[in-house]
Amino acid sequence: MSELSGIAILGVFVADTTYRTARLPAWGETLLGAGFVLGPGGKGSNQAVAAGRLGAEVRFLSRLGADAFGEMAQAVWREAGVTPCVETVADEATGAACILVDDARGENAIIISPGAAAGITPALIEARRADIARSRVVMTQLEQPLDAARRFLEIGRAAGAVTILNPAPAAQLDAALIGLCDYVTPNETEAEMLTGVPVSGVEGAREAAEVLLRRGAKAVIVTLGAAGALYHDADASLVVPAFEPGAVVETTGAGDAFNGAFATALAEGAEPVDAVRFGCAAAALSVSRPGAAASMPRRAEVERLLA
Ligand code: ATP
Repeated sequence: MSELSGIAILGVFVADTTYRTARLPAWGETLLGAGFVLGPGGKGSNQAVAAGRLGAEVRFLSRLGADAFGEMAQAVWREAGVTPCVETVADEATGAACILVDDARGENAIIISPGAAAGITPALIEARRADIARSRVVMTQLEQPLDAARRFLEIGRAAGAVTILNPAPAAQLDAALIGLCDYVTPNETEAEMLTGVPVSGVEGAREAAEVLLRRGAKAVIVTLGAAGALYHDADASLVVPAFEPGAVVETTGAGDAFNGAFATALAEGAEPVDAVRFGCAAAALSVSRPGAAASMPRRAEVERLLA
């Protein structure tokens, strides 16, 4: 078999448009907001940026519109050294999220429009077979259509890649899909949704992980926020503690930092538990600063934390 290298990530880019407001407008009403921030988002894109900044060779498969947000995506990937394997379409919009935030009450309301990414089909994945099949690790989430994610994992598995599914946003999945995965990496909410097991803390996480092993996953990592991450396979079950982030500034994107870094370490041949540790270190750094993609750390910072 030829030498596999790098990481192929399938996923979605969305431009996060965040408006601060004291209340939501009613239909027909126009409100003056209290502030606006535009930033890159989308779980797959954030994970690609995390891996790229850590020095991985990353190919990102997605679909964009030929518009300003599409150019923003390209600029973000360029900065992180990510190679885009994207279809750009003239008559559709790039994904965007409208996030309304009330800082005083700590509430938000969000509308996500996946735009062109909703048109990621198995045929589009098939057209990128060569990019997937030469990768040592393939990773996806659930923001694009499920049949495309399935085809992507099938191609990766057939080519001998390590396959990772970050099952976010939370969903119920069939055993055939779980059976395509070497690693399934839910957070607590997602683990609960996948299995029906109440998950709050390590014991529930372990029980849910066991259900996913029975459905065919080779190993499960349940991320536990400030408590770190549970690694669970047929032979071992242990909690890798979180790293001390200093002050917690913004946890958005912690899961993406974890997954991007975990995939990076696996692509370099690390043992799974060491890769979880690397993921936890990168995620701790990301929660210590603002933004999602913007908060992804560089290699040297992660190595300093692990030293
Ligand atoms: P998000 O949706 O906010 O991106 P998530 O719910 O997908 O995150 P979490 O389980 O909250 O994922 O966090 C992922 C990883 O990030 C954890 O396994 C942990 O290593 C790290 N992490 C999260 N919160 C903290 C924290 N407060 N301090 C240190 N590390 C943290």
